[in-house]
Amino acid sequence: MLIISYCFRMIAMKHNVLRYLRKTGVRNITISARSVQETYSEESAGKHLPLTYLSENEIAMKETVARLAHEQIRPYVREMENEGKLKESVIKMLFENGLMGIEIDPHYGGAGCNFMTTILTIEEIAKVDPAVSVLVDIHNTLVNAVIKKLGTDEQKEKYLPRLATDTSSSFALSETTSGTDAFALRTTAKKDGTDYILNGSKMWISNSDIAGLFLVMANANPTEKVQYWGIWVKATKLLQDFLNEGRIGIASQMIGLAQGCFDATIPYTLERTQFGKPIFSFQSMQHQISQIATQIECARLLTYNAARLVEAGLPFVKQAAMAKYYAAEVAQQTCIKCIDWMGGVGFTKDFIQEKFYRDVKIGSIYEGTYNIQLSTIAKHLEKEYKH
Ligand SMILES: Cc1cc2nc3c(=O)[nH]c(=O)nc-3n(C[C@H](O)[C@H](O)[C@H](O)COP(=O)(O)OP(=O)(O)OC[C@H]3O[C@@H](n4cnc5c(N)ncnc54)[C@H](O)[C@@H]3O)c2cc1C
Repeated sequence: MLIISYCFRMIAMKHNVLRYLRKTGVRNITISARSVQETYSEESAGKHLPLTYLSENEIAMKETVARLAHEQIRPYVREMENEGKLKESVIKMLFENGLMGIEIDPHYGGAGCNFMTTILTIEEIAKVDPAVSVLVDIHNTLVNAVIKKLGTDEQKEKYLPRLATDTSSSFALSETTSGTDAFALRTTAKKDGTDYILNGSKMWISNSDIAGLFLVMANANPTEKVQYWGIWVKATKLLQDFLNEGRIGIASQMIGLAQGCFDATIPYTLERTQFGKPIFSFQSMQHQISQIATQIECARLLTYNAARLVEAGLPFVKQAAMAKYYAAEVAQQTCIKCIDWMGGVGFTKDFIQEKFYRDVKIGSIYEGTYNIQLSTIAKHLEKEYKH
């Protein structure tokens, strides 16, 4: 079912995260308190670890990515936005620092980190620019993950080193007539000697303008679908597993976006005065701000829990759907509220809240709409209560 259409671009580079961490000595890097989520050391964590407990490597990566996003993405957010294009230097930076091969084995030039590290990376980048974050998300949680887990040794040798070092990718599932009903796809893959010939068209494919590798979903047994429906079901189940993991990535993008918008807004509420007082000091403002802060924290806990379930090899589908649904909902609410708290200036392009507000809408649509997440949750609830 999965056909890889591949063409190389860009020049190979040999870097990975751990090498980068050693080179820069990131443990000593200090970043603004607001940009770094509170973390716990091993000593303080005690026997039962809180969900926000991170390993040393995870903390190091989180801090490094926060710094890179601040220094090497933030200055170009407006420029990229105006041009409608990701800057080449930003993409190069992602590769050079191992952020495009986070879970790829070091044997193939990747960083060899865990799933949680991918989730933290997506979150940190989304705090600064959700558009860059989704490139990292799709590349790592969908394309790299599929090849890493389902690819043959030959495919891994061929594709993973390039995906880790210099080649962006796209995940092509949606078509004009198949969106939510993804498995109604019409694109076919016909065997032709050792190759497959793809026939069909795709729509909405993120980052297709910069991708050097397209992971194209196609039906390799279109005429045999009914006869061999078992194979079809098996293939769709495999794909669904990846989409379920990918949802945790989007949840992470949404909590990063929400946190980024919140971080950009609260200082304004502390500085802006009306009636001779900072607007933050009004109780009705404080209550709204506290509600949003609590909701972001809840969304983060759902997301981290879903990620840890994946790592532990435990069932995670319901939790992934809850995380994605709730994080997208909270992120929308956060952006709406932040603009309210900014007053008129929040409505203008002079402030970043307006971009976050536009970027946030997609979170409830791609990788499964709200309705689909809720249906997934309901399916699990039905099973749980029937038995
Ligand atoms: C910016 C952007 C980037 C994207 N990137 C990618 C990408 O990289 N790769 C890719 O393959 N796709 C991508 N997509 C496509 C995206 O995944 C689809 O848009 C999404 O799955 C919804 O499909 P649709 O747009 O066809 O909506 P539809 O499926 O037509 O849904 C319309 C509405 O009907 C509801 N609905 C449909 N079926 C049901 C049901 N059974 N029960 C309840 N409600 C239902 C939906 O919830 C939704 O509210 C992207 C889309 C956008 C807008």
